[in-house]
Amino acid sequence: MSTTTPLFQIENLHAGIEGNEILKGVDLTINPGEIHALMGPNGSGKSTLAYVVAGHPNYEVLEGRVLYKGENVLEMAADERARLGLFLAFQYPTVIPGVSMANFLRLAVNSVREAREGKPLAPREFRRLMREKMAMLKVDETFATRYLNEGFSGGEKKRAEILQLALLEPELAILDETDSGLDIDALRTVSEGVNTILKPEQSLLVITHYQRLLNYIKPHFVHVMLEGRIVESGGPELALELEDKGYDWLKEQFAEKVGA
Ligand code: ADP
Ligand code: MG
Repeated sequence: MSTTTPLFQIENLHAGIEGNEILKGVDLTINPGEIHALMGPNGSGKSTLAYVVAGHPNYEVLEGRVLYKGENVLEMAADERARLGLFLAFQYPTVIPGVSMANFLRLAVNSVREAREGKPLAPREFRRLMREKMAMLKVDETFATRYLNEGFSGGEKKRAEILQLALLEPELAILDETDSGLDIDALRTVSEGVNTILKPEQSLLVITHYQRLLNYIKPHFVHVMLEGRIVESGGPELALELEDKGYDWLKEQFAEKVGA
């Protein structure tokens, strides 16, 4: 039995928006180096969970805790969470007018560097690091000079997120619906990118509606969310079972449990 503090722990999380409870008691533990997949039908509360963990101001926490290295992140400002080593990529990345990719990435990297090492990267060092990661991810050099998300295709937005992930090297990354709006080739490129940059000690929570992403990013654990609760957890075989049977069998099982 281990007595070490888990990297990330969600305990009995209840949260909602404008008086509506969406998350109704979520528990989840992630240890270093583990890849978890959170699946579930549309509207089950997957994105809400990601937003609450990120500290999105529209969401209200009603009960429970979210612990990162034993500290309650719900009491921290959103940027403080990022500096601690949490990374959250979103389903709908925002456009920031007039900010180039390179400048945006430099700000993001240096805010984390300053917290971790006490000083930012020199501009030359940053450019070297960015080029190295772009080459690793096979991202075109012109990408760095483009304005953030302006005119980006779905695939390009995701590539930008993965590049950010590569530069920030967070201990835990939460990726929401990385497969949405991606054609099969883009999906493969992004998944390969994640697989290329993810180090053995880094942890990942990948949130997805579809099983197909998990053909590329292999999870150690799979959880299914229904109506704001994790109703089933298992190994990679659970994702295959869902692919085969859909979510309905779990819905029936869950209805019986709640109704009893
Ligand atoms: P998922 O990511 O699993 O598709 P969401 O977390 O986006 O699910 O949504 C969960 C539930 O919360 C849905 O019923 C949705 O209608 C509701 N919801 C999400 N965002 C809002 C919002 N901004 N205002 C009101 N209800 C919301
Ligand atoms: Mg969602």
